[in-house]
Amino acid sequence: MLFGLRVYFVDKNNQINKIFGLFSASVAIWLIFDFLAYQTNLADIQLLINRLIIALVLNFIFLLTWFVDIFPRPLIKIPKIIKYIVCFSLILVSIVAILTNRIVKSVSIEDWGSNITTGKLFYIFAILATIMAVYAIFILIYKFIKFKDLEKKQVKYVLYGISLLLILNAIFNMIVPVLTNNFEFGRFGTYSTIFFIVFIAYAILKTRLFNLKVIVTETAVVIINVILAVQIFTSQTISEGLLRTLFLVLVIYGSYLLLGSVKREIKFREELQVMTEQLAHANGHLKELDKMKTEFVSLASHELLTPVSAIEGYLSMMLDEKLARIDDPKAIHYMDRVYASAKRLARLVTDMLNVSRIEEGRLLVEKKEVSLTGVITQTIDELKFKAEEKKQKIIFANANHWETFGDTDKIKEIIINLVGNSIKYSKEPGEIQILVETVPTEQVNETWNKVEGAIKDGPLDDQEAIKSAVDEKLKRLVGPRQILVHVKDQGIGIPREELPRLFKKFHRVGDYTTAESQGTGLGLYITRALVELHHGRVWADSEGQGRGSVFTFSLPEATVQKEIQELEAQVPNKGDMKPLARPTKQAEEL
Ligand code: ADP
Repeated sequence: MLFGLRVYFVDKNNQINKIFGLFSASVAIWLIFDFLAYQTNLADIQLLINRLIIALVLNFIFLLTWFVDIFPRPLIKIPKIIKYIVCFSLILVSIVAILTNRIVKSVSIEDWGSNITTGKLFYIFAILATIMAVYAIFILIYKFIKFKDLEKKQVKYVLYGISLLLILNAIFNMIVPVLTNNFEFGRFGTYSTIFFIVFIAYAILKTRLFNLKVIVTETAVVIINVILAVQIFTSQTISEGLLRTLFLVLVIYGSYLLLGSVKREIKFREELQVMTEQLAHANGHLKELDKMKTEFVSLASHELLTPVSAIEGYLSMMLDEKLARIDDPKAIHYMDRVYASAKRLARLVTDMLNVSRIEEGRLLVEKKEVSLTGVITQTIDELKFKAEEKKQKIIFANANHWETFGDTDKIKEIIINLVGNSIKYSKEPGEIQILVETVPTEQVNETWNKVEGAIKDGPLDDQEAIKSAVDEKLKRLVGPRQILVHVKDQGIGIPREELPRLFKKFHRVGDYTTAESQGTGLGLYITRALVELHHGRVWADSEGQGRGSVFTFSLPEATVQKEIQELEAQVPNKGDMKPLARPTKQAEEL
């Protein structure tokens, strides 16, 4: 009763509070009358009380249905005429129940309490009550399905409480009495209001009805204080009375502090909740945008690649003296520039296509046992011409035979990217050395932790460099040892402060408008994703500008093939898998 009244007074104008208040009061009054029914032996009074209880039960179910209908907001609009009919029937049946013997015929006093003999129209009461109860449960289930998030949770707990309350009441106050003609177990129905209170209380604590949380605390505090106050008057001696008074004063002060802190905490949590919700919303929106962006890039680069390849192909034909004739040396010069740009464009488009395939998890990776030594030798052969142009010598001392478990194409791409960069970023004639060794996995872990730690301690902007496009599960290092491949050059080197940023998407050191070394800033980003798809790590080191660079990546040994397959089985396939896009032959020459 107190609980209901307090809810009502918190927000008198709110219909939900009003109906909840009335509903709680009706439960309380019903319980009081039920209690009274057990307190008297006078048959006439017993009869009147039991008839009143029938009316109270109708009233209770009616208010309950009303509450459910508007909590936390109305969902179904009931035509006014139906509302009138229901109200009219309820009042009519209540009057009939109180004033006539049609519903409760007589009451006999048994040793467990009073027993009701039902009248001829008892079934009308039963039907009316059942219809409303079923409607209440139906509407809660409907709301549970329709509503989302917080409202869904609120509805869920109320649904549990009310369903239990109604079902137990239907069993003990209707089915059992009708079948056995005995109301002995009726009180179990009444007791089931406890379930209702427990679930509503739980709903209050669990969901955002924080106002009500304060109310629960207040109610408990008031009850404790009242009990303590009553105890003062039952004291045997004055000193006991004084002691109890002092105790009461302390408890009242404590209650005051407690309520204050609960209110403050709730206010804080409410604010926090609002902020969390806003953030979650914004985050969801960003993810959606990010997905759209990736899809767009994927589609756009796919569509761009065909015309760009055509432009590039025809330009190459025009520049080939055997195929076409252009006499003006100026025109040839311009055509050369256009051709170079077309090649760059093709490279950029392919890189973007690959990035989007990797980020969407749609890159086709077909692993098998691979001779790493073989792949390196092959790749060096392909890059030789390019290296010679820049007076670079690629040295690979393949003293050992290294076997890994991976996708030949992708491993090749990794090496092409790293050795290609070494060639691209070397000005003076020099050597590019490729070294392979195996080291304990802990050593790779340690190095990686250092690299990652340095980035995490750095500016927020640089943290992009450790955000991986690859599923976390796949990134695990597998096996006790790892194969390390070092690509060491004597080129322009990298300033130390740039090292953590190298693997960021689109990151290029220095002024990338310098035509000297053209690039997209995507190569290392793709390289890292490819290495991680092979359960490896990649990092860079350099003594500084002008002092060369070393890029190192790890690959698993071929012996751990089984573990890798098991690990990869855990990551679901996204479907529509695509191979690594490659630039056309001419573009690759760049
Ligand atoms: P791109 O080469 O297309 O610009 P990458 O992602 O391959 O993009 O490389 C990113 C940047 O890292 C390059 O722009 C360059 O500044 C730097 N870099 C990469 N490899 C080397 C290297 N071997 N020596 C010096 N700088 C390098």
